Amino acid sequence: MADEQSAACFAARLLAWWDVHGRKNLPWQRERTPYRVWVAEIMLQQTQVSTVVPYFERFVTRLPDVESLARADLDEVLHLWSGLGYYARARHLHRAAGVVVREHGGVFPDEAERIQRLPGVGRSTAAAIVAQSHGRRAAILDANVKRVLARRHRVGGAVSSAGTLDELWRLAESHTPAERVADYTQAIMDLGATVCRRIRPRCADCPVRADCQAHAAGDPEGYPEKPPRRKRRLERSRFFVVVDPEGACLLEQRPPDGIWGGLWSPPERDAGESVIAFLEQAGIAADLVGEVQQAGVFRHGFTHFDLDVEPVYVRLRARPAVVRESLGRWIDPAEHRLGLSAVAARLVGVTTLFDPR
Ligand code: SF4
Repeated sequence: MADEQSAACFAARLLAWWDVHGRKNLPWQRERTPYRVWVAEIMLQQTQVSTVVPYFERFVTRLPDVESLARADLDEVLHLWSGLGYYARARHLHRAAGVVVREHGGVFPDEAERIQRLPGVGRSTAAAIVAQSHGRRAAILDANVKRVLARRHRVGGAVSSAGTLDELWRLAESHTPAERVADYTQAIMDLGATVCRRIRPRCADCPVRADCQAHAAGDPEGYPEKPPRRKRRLERSRFFVVVDPEGACLLEQRPPDGIWGGLWSPPERDAGESVIAFLEQAGIAADLVGEVQQAGVFRHGFTHFDLDVEPVYVRLRARPAVVRESLGRWIDPAEHRLGLSAVAARLVGVTTLFDPR
């Protein structure tokens, strides 16, 4: 009984706070269809709201429903995702749309268990879709919610450990109200993003401060337990930016999996690979080369490592009749409709990763 009262109190305080301070005008809140909520939830995994908003708007303008996403080329989907990072999300989204069309007649499933079977959809994302688009009670547990609940209840242990995760899911279930569930899920995510921040939480402005055990203990930042710091590794690669007299670049498609899976990029080779070795391997005759220029190295950060990028610009006097098949295509970056990573875009001089046409 005490537990039930405390849960009702938590949800009520959170909703009262959200009514005044919450974010209510996000594009996926305006028309809460399962498709739009799904796209938004996938984009919001590991990416901040302010970054997601323009990507979301453009994505759903170009691909307004699950059928259009299923029909689209993966290249186009990756193009729409270019610069957002974590490209496996886009590949999964595209595959899942195909599953919805083939196995569900194009109608997005409305039960969390069935949604969860789609590629790239976890338990929390499935619950968010059900709660936000159908208003049906379903508990979510994304990174923001984990942090709020771990602090509110002073749950020890790393959030990656099974025991801690079970406890957090139990708490998430118990706090989720039967009424206004869509608002509640948005409210707890907003609280985590804007008040119960990872660093320097704004406890003085928090609606659940009176019951918060981590705050009472004077140690909000101590929860949840931080994962052990992994030493970041540093890698280095050389990228050959081969440009023909018309300004088209030679781009190759990355293998389907991995960090930049399916995206297009100037050929990446081991650091220090010579221009002669590269041209030979590409099948480009040395007498076509007008100018070779090595530009400054820049560093690009990934989640667990940094990559030092060595750009080498090779300007050709004429485009070779053929290049080795594995090397891909000549693409005018200004006209491109392909997926480019932020690194590839910088190398080929594309200033806006997304072409709004
Ligand atoms: S009181 Fe502080 S630590 Fe506790 S939930 Fe609120 S913001 Fe987070």
